[in-house]
Amino acid sequence: MIDKTGFLYHEICMWHDTGNRSIYDDSGIYFQPTTSYENPETKRRLKNLLEVSGAMKQLKSIDSKVASIEALQRFHTERYIASISEKSAKGAGDAGEGSPFAQNGFTIARQSSGMAIQAMESVLKGDVKNAYCLSRPPGHHAKRDTGSGFCLLGNIPIAIMAAQAKKLVKRVAVIDWDVHHGNGTEEAFYDSADVLTISIHHDNNFPANSGGISDRGTGEGHGYNFNIPLPAGSGIDAYLTTLNELVVPALQRFKPEIIVVACGFDAAAVDPLGPMILNSETYRKMTNILMKEANKLCNDRLVMIHEGGYSPSYVPFCGLAVIEEMSGQRTKVVDTLSDEIAVWGQQEIQPHQQDLIDNLKSYLKDIC
Ligand SMILES: [Zn+2]
Repeated sequence: MIDKTGFLYHEICMWHDTGNRSIYDDSGIYFQPTTSYENPETKRRLKNLLEVSGAMKQLKSIDSKVASIEALQRFHTERYIASISEKSAKGAGDAGEGSPFAQNGFTIARQSSGMAIQAMESVLKGDVKNAYCLSRPPGHHAKRDTGSGFCLLGNIPIAIMAAQAKKLVKRVAVIDWDVHHGNGTEEAFYDSADVLTISIHHDNNFPANSGGISDRGTGEGHGYNFNIPLPAGSGIDAYLTTLNELVVPALQRFKPEIIVVACGFDAAAVDPLGPMILNSETYRKMTNILMKEANKLCNDRLVMIHEGGYSPSYVPFCGLAVIEEMSGQRTKVVDTLSDEIAVWGQQEIQPHQQDLIDNLKSYLKDIC
């Protein structure tokens, strides 16, 4: 069973209801309400594509439970947990900074965190080679004392802290390729040298004033938080160069016991919430790069936790590409948009993108 890819999905995650709003702010009476960008369809359509393409047959389905309150408390404050628990019981609320939820939102968020916990445990215990967790609500913006940006609970910090508490792992590398900064994960491990957090994101997109290159961790954690804020319009070469010239050397210096990816698909070219121009083939290649490092460094241990990605028609192709690569299969599904995006202008690396990458290379020496 060790060579299988685990897959986690739970129907109740699709019942998380963010309401009828375009993004996360109230646009007043002037704006016709519409479906929130963060809605079940992007994820459910990925799961459906896995099924109709036959890819699901090669995956090992993994069950999960809701995360315990104790597991949440390792990262979140008691005040915050009590606050969203009460709002959820009353029927609806906002966890903070644009993280609306409806009835049972807290329970569903605990399910999402529980899936991340189980994904990590299954890989660390050797039940599966690697795992993909298709959960919602997402988690990488959630902070200790507040939700943020559609995220209620910090799924990745909660899962890492649960695995560390069970002494299943110590050194963990988190690669966040969601187009927005992984600020919650950064906060969770800012003073830790045991967890390397690398976030590749659009410069100063969301949250505002977050994810700058000078935010590098504190105390023992100095150097172990690595922000890579790419300019708008970064494409295929910019991302692959970032992985090959910054992420891979960082991983080789750090020598993690497991690699966790905050897997957002909102750097795709047709995403409504990001200005980047990736295609599904780039996500496949980035997965392959990390799998090679996981093979060299940590017995293939790789866990992907689903984060953002807001194109209902394109997220499924990106997710399929990642999961095909993780599980060593290739279905007959053809992403016809991928070749079209690949020849768009500025897909080759631009001088200002390469300059940023070159400047950041000096930060690698602080990782050991
Ligand atoms: Zn995002």
